[in-house]
Amino acid sequence: MPFSLKGKAALVTGSGRGIGRAIALQLAQAGASVMLNDIDREPLLETGSLIDQAGGIAKALPGDLTQPDFPQKLVDFTVNGFGSIDIIVNNAGYTWDNVIQKMTDEQFQAMLDIHLVAPFRILRAAAGFIREAAKREIAEGRRVMRKVVNITSVSGVDGIAGQAGYGAGKAGINGLTKVLSKEWGRYNVNVNSVGFGLIETRLVQPLDAGGTIEMKGKQIKIGVQPAMREAAKSMCPLGRLGTVEEAAGAVLFFCSPLSDYVSGEILIVSGGARS
Ligand code: NAP
Repeated sequence: MPFSLKGKAALVTGSGRGIGRAIALQLAQAGASVMLNDIDREPLLETGSLIDQAGGIAKALPGDLTQPDFPQKLVDFTVNGFGSIDIIVNNAGYTWDNVIQKMTDEQFQAMLDIHLVAPFRILRAAAGFIREAAKREIAEGRRVMRKVVNITSVSGVDGIAGQAGYGAGKAGINGLTKVLSKEWGRYNVNVNSVGFGLIETRLVQPLDAGGTIEMKGKQIKIGVQPAMREAAKSMCPLGRLGTVEEAAGAVLFFCSPLSDYVSGEILIVSGGARS
């Protein structure tokens, strides 16, 4: 590896499964100490075990990011546990789709809450530590780069039918990326978005597989119409869905010194496909 993240403390939300788990594993492999979070305890502990077995360093705090006071707790737990917070990956998310005429206020708001409000609260909670640390480092004549990666989607850049709430949340996070890249440049923080096309996780499993997730006591159908999955493959120049490792690779770039002079960007990771 042309870089090491040894000594860096990273927070990855939604790291119990899917892309978040792959991001956490790659960060740990690169040497970072990783704070794991997910709403579900069991898969989260599994991610922790995988990192332990590979000789990496991880701690975990399960919890629901949409609870207003939880983002601050998570940031405090990271700083107290590792002595710093150097990399933040706002990854947790899910889809709750419907055409606009059938989308309830609750559904629309839930998408904003997890994809936009929770990342905002995490970043606001981290602002105190980051500003103080950067001021101290700059006074000592040291340039220490920190990293924020916000996970977005092709839906938030180009739009996907049926995703008014999800697309709005994913577009909103790109606005936050752009603003914070300007506010935090002076503190040596790179702030970027990575937007995925279809990556093979349970979120995009064929709809007829009957997948659901439980959120706040509600069963929410997840998945993509089989015909849409096939259409997405045929419209993708690479002819296939991406793997979680491929998705995580792009995030690792933005967490590494390789991207120290890149900020405020939105990188689309979709095998060349745009909706
Ligand atoms: P995934 O496998 O379902 O993983 C997402 C994780 O986020 C789950 O473990 C989930 O917990 C967790 N999560 C959801 N709500 C949470 C909350 N309130 N608090 C804490 N954790 C929460 O999905 P994925 O495909 O890896 O998605 C990761 C990110 O990529 C999401 O932001 C998603 O929108 C984005 N994305 C994915 C694709 C794709 O094709 N897969 C495309 C574009 C963007 P539970 O397991 O308990 O629900």
